[in-house]
Order: sequence, then structure tokens, then C-alpha cells
Amino acid sequence: MTSAQIIDGKALAKRMQAEMGDRIAQWRSQFGRAPGLAVLMVGDNPASAAYVKNKELACQRIGMQSFGQHFPTSVTQAELEQAIAQLNQDDRVDGILVQLPLPEHLDAIALLNTIHPDKDADGLHPYNMGKLMRGEVGLQSCTPAGVMQLLQTANIEVAGKTAVVIGRSILVGKPVAMLLLQANATVIMAHSRTEDLKATTRSADILIAAVGKPELVTRDMVKPGAVVIDVGINRITDYEGNSRLVGDVDFEGASQVASHITPVPGGVGPMTVTMLMHNTIWSYCRRYGTAYN
Ligand code: NAP
Repeated sequence: MTSAQIIDGKALAKRMQAEMGDRIAQWRSQFGRAPGLAVLMVGDNPASAAYVKNKELACQRIGMQSFGQHFPTSVTQAELEQAIAQLNQDDRVDGILVQLPLPEHLDAIALLNTIHPDKDADGLHPYNMGKLMRGEVGLQSCTPAGVMQLLQTANIEVAGKTAVVIGRSILVGKPVAMLLLQANATVIMAHSRTEDLKATTRSADILIAAVGKPELVTRDMVKPGAVVIDVGINRITDYEGNSRLVGDVDFEGASQVASHITPVPGGVGPMTVTMLMHNTIWSYCRRYGTAYN
């Protein structure tokens, strides 16, 4: 039995993407072209291929141009750097994204650093990360920005609240903590070395789980009335051999005590893709001197 209100990321993503589509149609006639996103993928990792396909379909749906490139696993660092250099110069391209993870022989960090900060659709370039740290306007990493959008749309008051973020990755944990701090939450970061995780999470008015451990957060770790945002995406296989996606939170248990909760799938995931579109449009508008929020 669920008592928590479900924060529906799928529905919000659909609304936001429809609105983006309408605005792109206007801008296309105004500026003579649609915003363009280039997703670079290396190898044949099925999960990455599914994510890339998802992004390309979302681009198509809203009328954004897609400049995807698919490289074999044997591609060299130099070849990828050259592809990024060309995209940096390409006026049709407003956003560039390298789908992670990359094969081991490639240096992902070095590669991400070659993306022009103005085309950094993933918001992972040190320049944009630095802006985030300083509280300046810039491209924000997609999943953390999606989390903030979900909180805002669900009318969750963040200022003054205690927010606990489990996970301290560059991709999710650290940037989401910075965004919560900017929104005036009192932020606590938990990680694998946190001594008493349950005591820490029970102090949270807003609990963000970004760990990558299936259903790590159980009902007893959630303070009654807390808002729970589950970033985790984990594929598990049950004893009958059926596989399904679960988050980092035991949804059934936690939803009995939380006030609001995001499901997996259908919570943060669709917002990540939406914020990628948002970032690409933001860069496009910036080039034409048009405001976009
Ligand atoms: P990551 O880089 O592996 O980081 C995981 C973090 O969790 C680390 O900081 C780690 O602590 C911490 N951790 C691991 N075990 C823990 C434990 N038992 N107790 C407390 N903390 C623990 O993962 P990520 O890239 O941030 O991704 C996290 C999850 O989000 C994954 O399931 C991923 O698939 C998902 N994800 C979803 C989206 C989306 O669109 N919904 C986007 C990105 C990622 P240490 O630093 O101490 O090792």
C-alpha cells in the first residue's frame, strides 16, 4: 500500500519536451535552424546503446537536429578528440555528449575536457562544474538539474530543510548537493564510509539516493514525511529469471512512510534526457541572444 504522493518524472518530462518542441518550431523559423545535439557513442554496450537511442528519439520528437556518431571499440583517443574538435567548430551543433562509460583504453576525463564549455550538454566540463561551485549561471549536469526540477514541480520547499544525498560522484552526488545548497537546504553528504547511514538518512527532510545499490534504502531509513528522490537505476533478476529495473530505494517500503517519492522507472530517468535537451536549447538560445529558462 502506497501512501506517499508519487512524483511523476515521466509526465513532467513529457510536458517539458512538448513545450520545447513548440518553442523549437518558432525558433527554427526565426533563426533558420533548429538546435542540434551530437551524441558520441563508442562500442556496443547494450545499456549505452539503449540510452543513446532514447536521446536520439527524444531529439527527433521535439524537432531538434541529431548529429550522433558511433565509433567501434577500437577507436583511438586521438580520433575521438578530432571528432570533438570538429563538432566544437560546427555551427549546427549546440550540444555535445560523450556516452559513458568508455572502453578502458580511453581516457574519459581528458576527452570530456576537450568539449567546448559552451557545448557541454552534460554539464560535466570543469568550467561548468566550477561555475556550479561558485553559484554562477552555467550549464548544469543533467541528472542533478532534473532532480531539482522534480522538487520544484512537486512544490517541495527546499530552503531551510535538511537534505541528505547518498553518493558523492561527479555525475550525480556532488552536483546535486551543490544545487540543493544553492537552494538553501542544509546539505549532508553520505557515502560508503559514512559510519551510521541509517541515523544520517533519518535526519533527512529530503533524501536523495544516488548509489547504484538495489533497494539499499529501506523503510526504516526514511524519516516519516520525508521526500525521497531515487536516482538509482539497477537491473535485478529474480529467482524465476525475470529481470526488472529497481532503484536504490525499496519503493514499497519507503512509500509507506515518505510524503513524496519518485518511482523507478519513471522518476529521475526521463528528467535526465529532458535536461539534456534543455541544456542544448540553452546553449542555442545563448548563441542567438535569446533568453531561455
Ligand atoms: P557511482 O559513481 O558508482 O557512485 C556511487 C556512490 O555511492 C559513491 O559515492 C559511493 O561512495 C556511494 N556508495 C556506494 N555504496 C554505498 C553504501 N553502501 N552506502 C552509502 N554510499 C554508498 O554512481 P553514480 O554514477 O553516481 O550513479 C549512482 C546511481 O544512479 C546508479 O544506479 C546509476 O545507474 C544511477 N544514475 C541514474 C541516472 C538517471 O538518469 N536516473 C543518471 C546517472 C546515474 P564512495 O564515494 O565512498 O565510493
